[in-house]
Amino acid sequence: MKRILVTGGAGFIGSHLCERLLNDGNDVICLDNFLTGSKKNVEHLIDNKYFELVRHDVIMPFYAEVDEIYNLACPASPVHYQVNPIKTIKTSVMGAINMLGLAKRTGAKILQASTSEVYGNPKVHPQPETYWGNVNPLGSRSSYDEGKRCAESLFMSYYHQNKVKIKIARIFNTYGPKMRLNDGRVVSNFIIQALRNQPLTVYGDGTQTRCFQYVSDLIDGLVKLMNTDDLCVGPINLGNTQEFTVRELAEKIIALTHSRSTIVNEDLPEDDPVQRKPDIRLAQKMLGWNALISLDEGLNETIQYYRTKIDPSEYIFEAN
Ligand code: NAD
Ligand code: UDP
Ligand code: UDP
Repeated sequence: MKRILVTGGAGFIGSHLCERLLNDGNDVICLDNFLTGSKKNVEHLIDNKYFELVRHDVIMPFYAEVDEIYNLACPASPVHYQVNPIKTIKTSVMGAINMLGLAKRTGAKILQASTSEVYGNPKVHPQPETYWGNVNPLGSRSSYDEGKRCAESLFMSYYHQNKVKIKIARIFNTYGPKMRLNDGRVVSNFIIQALRNQPLTVYGDGTQTRCFQYVSDLIDGLVKLMNTDDLCVGPINLGNTQEFTVRELAEKIIALTHSRSTIVNEDLPEDDPVQRKPDIRLAQKMLGWNALISLDEGLNETIQYYRTKIDPSEYIFEAN
């Protein structure tokens, strides 16, 4: 039995990961400061004797004897990471240093949840791992983007200098059940607005593109990446390759929820990437991994989840 530390384990992705690791027969320590995560995401795991929930902030040192570390702690939604950008940078940078120090001391393998945001507003499309990106180092997304870029640099440096066993995943837009109602990212916003028959808020003209990956595909990729043998693996892109405009996403969600919602256009946030699509040939080759869940399938699962979170009186449609 492996003992595995998941930082940010009470968040959206982290809670799915903790569940998967427990199901695989591991002993799991879930560390979280509950900034954007919630005990509710992991309450069904609390009675499992191989699950421990620890309230801790990764910017402070943490001591435990572990075999593997998944470093996910960091607010991920632009709405949340921009509230306290200094804290966002500290979390990415000091959190990475502490978790790498822990990996160095224990000999644990450590995986960093990096992001497609390291490519910024990309001028190369789709984005391969070899692309260095086009990031505004001063703009409103910079605390997240540069924090994550610095974390990647730290991971590489601990590998080169201290032979720490590192894995870096560059995660593209991921969605699914357990994103908070006020998460602020596009898929949860649109589903909740559609279920409430409120207008869907498309930022800008909605022609910007994204590729949406269902969370179970990502979890599969993260576990496969951790299980690779090489001392240093990555960075490696993990994402779905089906590309949609944000407007197409809005229309799809209105159709799938049978909502009466309309679409309204709001201001496009600063430095919002115009297009984004992963080149996943490396993940296919090195991990034998592909994203398998289509957008329609994943959205239906996610819509079902939000129906249980929203008062039914808010989504009784004329059709019903
Ligand atoms: P999330 O906000 O739901 O989860 C982040 C978790 O980290 C939360 O539980 C939060 O409370 C915790 N946290 C934040 N700061 C912390 C700190 N200082 N100490 C301890 N815990 C802290 O977001 P998510 O979508 O689950 O993202 C998880 C990770 O995956 C993040 O690192 C994010 O950057 C990365 N990622 C996510 C996506 C995506 O599309 N969901 C894309 C790229 C990268
Ligand atoms: N650290 C930690 N847990 C450990 C070992 C180290 O949190 O089990 C922290 C430690 O407090 C330090 C950081 O990780 O701030 C980096 O550790 P490293 O050994 O690289 O640096 P040093 O201690 O030499 O500054
Ligand atoms: N977006 C939108 N309406 C919303 C939330 C987001 O149109 O209510 C857009 C946002 O401007 C971006 C895309 O959807 O172009 C994805 O945004 P998200 O915050 O989910 O993730 P990002 O890929 O920008 O990190």
